[in-house]
Amino acid sequence: MKKRNFKNDYHKETRLIHGDFYSVHWDYKDHMTPPISSSAAFRLESAERGAEGFIQFANPEFDRHKKQPILIYERLDEPSRSMLEDNLALQEEGECAVAFATGMAAITCSILSILKSGDSIIAHPTLYGCTYSLLANWIPNLGINVKWVDLKDTNKLSKAIDESVKIVYLETPSNPTLEIIDLKKVRDVIDSKKSKEKIYLIVDNTFATPYCQRPLNLGADIVVHSLTKDIGGFGTDMGGAWIGPKELENRVLLFRKDFGSPLSAKNSWQILVYGLPTLAIRVKKQMESAMEVAKFLETHPLVEKVIYPGLKSHPQYEIAKKQMVSCDGEFAPGIMIYFVLKGKPEKAQKRGRAMMNHIAGNALAITLAVSLGNIRTLVEHPSSMTHAPIPIERQLKAGIEPGGIRISLGIENVKDIIKDLSKALEYARDKG
Ligand SMILES: *Cc1c(COP(=O)(O)O)cnc(C)c1O
Repeated sequence: MKKRNFKNDYHKETRLIHGDFYSVHWDYKDHMTPPISSSAAFRLESAERGAEGFIQFANPEFDRHKKQPILIYERLDEPSRSMLEDNLALQEEGECAVAFATGMAAITCSILSILKSGDSIIAHPTLYGCTYSLLANWIPNLGINVKWVDLKDTNKLSKAIDESVKIVYLETPSNPTLEIIDLKKVRDVIDSKKSKEKIYLIVDNTFATPYCQRPLNLGADIVVHSLTKDIGGFGTDMGGAWIGPKELENRVLLFRKDFGSPLSAKNSWQILVYGLPTLAIRVKKQMESAMEVAKFLETHPLVEKVIYPGLKSHPQYEIAKKQMVSCDGEFAPGIMIYFVLKGKPEKAQKRGRAMMNHIAGNALAITLAVSLGNIRTLVEHPSSMTHAPIPIERQLKAGIEPGGIRISLGIENVKDIIKDLSKALEYARDKG
């Protein structure tokens, strides 16, 4: 099929429905929907062709985005996955993307494809639970030093950077407390250090979604995602993504091959065909609801505080307004809300648990479940659920309150979501 250049002529929403239309990975001129591939290994016409395929793989002389590589084995390269990767790079405005079996696989690779023993990584202490566990429990065993630094404070960051630091790692908004970190400021501090070796800024953009924020334009070098969340969108499959510079792509591909964590062709196809094309429309609806629910919670007598980047009361509202912006230039404060119930720690935690149990037993529009970025509104109580492995003292230090509740907005009618919340809050007041 002839290559046609649609760049810049159409909005990203439109381009993500149609992809680039033309793909080097598969010449499917009769299909409107990209075809799905289902072959773990590929037929080789000759031994020489096999040899050429192995020479091409992760070879800087060969550009897999310009020409379809010789296919050998699904773990190396695979056409449905490659088509998804091209569109993920388009969505995040990065040079290239590599897709993984899970978000954690992408995160692990983003770190271990850069660091070696003796190096250091600086990480913000409020992180997704498993990322925290990876950095606290596993990475130090490899002789890598992990420095926990509050990245809202650029002086602390500046002091922590020395010649051993190769990565600065963060989430913004962070899980679950929705702290916003100023990416431009972090970038400026890193650049002011003039280190001999490059320091990579890695941002987990799962909470924001690429609809609301594109960190690569704000100073990040690498973006990671859990595709299990809003990019996948329907909660049917797991996946992860690394999006970053071409200079690192081959290292990441080799790491994925040897670590054994590529996204399967079938899951790639689901995200390519259902997830990415509907991201914009889902996120717009989720954001509208988030704003209404945040305003409802702000006026509720049982609620101590509401953290939503779209509320003027958010401690980093001004930074959010600068960096959480849709491709059309509109403020896009995201789909996640964190709020805290009133009461002393034990009381607040009891109320939180009562609220969760009431929702689990009585609500239709809200589901008690971990995960986020789903068409269903999901609620969880980090203190007793996702962050339970973190000791209570560290929870409090990281700003995770015993009465803190996280909501990920779905696409239900927002009046139903508020009705279910309202009833659960009433129950928590009486029974908690
Ligand atoms: C879910 C999540 C992850 C991990 O992704 P999996 O697909 O579950 O492995 C990482 N970071 C954030 C912010 C997440 O929400």
